[in-house]
Amino acid sequence: MSYKAINPYNGELIREFAATSDQEVEAALKNAELFYQTAKKEPISKRAALLARLATEFTDHLEKYARYLTTNMGKRIDEARSEVKKNAAFANYYVHAGEKALKNQTYSNAAGKTAQLEFSSIGAILSVEPWNFPYTQIMRVFAPNFILGNPVLLKHASIVPECAQAFEDACHAAGLPAGAFKNLFVDYDQVNKIIADPRVQGVALTGSEKAGATLAAEAGKNLKKSTMELGGTDVCIVLNDAELETAIAGAVSARLNNAGQVCTAAKRYLVQSKIYDKFLAGIIAEFKQKKLGDPLDEQTTLAPLSSKKAQQNLQKQVANVLAGGSKVLWGDPRPVEGPGAFFNPLIITGMTFDNPMYDTELFGPVAQIYKVDTEAEMLKIANHSNYGLGGAIYSQDAQHAQQLASQVETGQIAINQPLSSHPEFPFGGVKKSGYGRELSDLGIREFANIKTILK
Ligand code: NAP
Repeated sequence: MSYKAINPYNGELIREFAATSDQEVEAALKNAELFYQTAKKEPISKRAALLARLATEFTDHLEKYARYLTTNMGKRIDEARSEVKKNAAFANYYVHAGEKALKNQTYSNAAGKTAQLEFSSIGAILSVEPWNFPYTQIMRVFAPNFILGNPVLLKHASIVPECAQAFEDACHAAGLPAGAFKNLFVDYDQVNKIIADPRVQGVALTGSEKAGATLAAEAGKNLKKSTMELGGTDVCIVLNDAELETAIAGAVSARLNNAGQVCTAAKRYLVQSKIYDKFLAGIIAEFKQKKLGDPLDEQTTLAPLSSKKAQQNLQKQVANVLAGGSKVLWGDPRPVEGPGAFFNPLIITGMTFDNPMYDTELFGPVAQIYKVDTEAEMLKIANHSNYGLGGAIYSQDAQHAQQLASQVETGQIAINQPLSSHPEFPFGGVKKSGYGRELSDLGIREFANIKTILK
């Protein structure tokens, strides 16, 4: 398996990394075990201070870290800067809130017994991450586990090796112990061996449903706990009484940010009939403004996809969507020629339950729009999905929107704003979008030993 950084804007090879040998994996496991045993005896405050330094390392060298994101997976440079800042914010959240989330709790029963709950470390966690947010995906696993005392071994997506390496370098620069975090350029067989190793006690994957099914099975086979942050086909519900500009702005950013390559992107717009024409006109006006270009150029408003492979895959998916009976409502579906992994924004209509591509996650700037009369029909479409990751509802009646939100089968949903991740709030899905939660106090307890001490 090769770990190559190839610039998706021009197809140029930036750097290729040597594979991690089995001996190097063994050394990483030994160091991780050493960190686990040492951290157990040390106060959380020591690790919190180091994590704060890691956050500062990222913000102090923001431009350097941002550039790796842009050149490895094509993220626009301003989005890359935002990711580096968010990465630091995720770390800083656990610097301040981690210890509190791990405080002992007391339970009691009617018979007068009490039990104390302790949250303690369990061992190394294997973190397998995707390329779409190369730093924050790591930090969501690393920061809570570092505070807890669990070392993290990383298998990153093979197309963002400079980002994986940069994260490890940042840990070094911040003075973290070597065993706390290790990036491994390993293949799938090595991943399976790492999962089976007794020093590894958990698997945290963010990625596709396919990878989720494979790695959850490996973890299960070895009786290791796992968390699965997988894909989605989230809805953006726009009710007749929505504030039009807010809904349009939210829907556009929720579909086109990161060139549409976001797990919680608004992949399906469900729009009530009375507001449909105005909403659609607004969306088209915004989509038209988007300018494909070099993601390092500040004028570019729509970046290339992460790789040629991603471009070809999406092209094939869109062709199948159209062959299944859907229509292009706006945009040019023809492939964009040239070395760059560009994809024109598209709006597709006429998706039906019997289209073989129904409920397929389209990872790029392709919006599907439905004109819907009733809320019952909206809920039926929203919930007619194997996935349940995020979603959004736009309505000026916030209470009503909340009632509707409660009926959408999903792990998280936003009202009158695009859904985004915040370190204080749990993040995760239901159905084939996965299980477990990252971020917040729940995220730090996923790989904790919740020990009951009966008194
Ligand atoms: P992917 O192909 O599933 O890859 C994710 C990671 O899993 C990569 O590191 C990949 O390595 C590794 N992997 C895949 N199959 C594996 C196997 N059999 N054994 C070991 N490792 C394996 O997903 P992606 O294309 O990078 O990312 C896009 C997907 O992630 C989308 O479905 C998106 O919705 C989802 N996502 C979910 C969230 C969330 O929080 N729920 C957040 C972001 C993205 P290689 O690169 O070497 O194949």
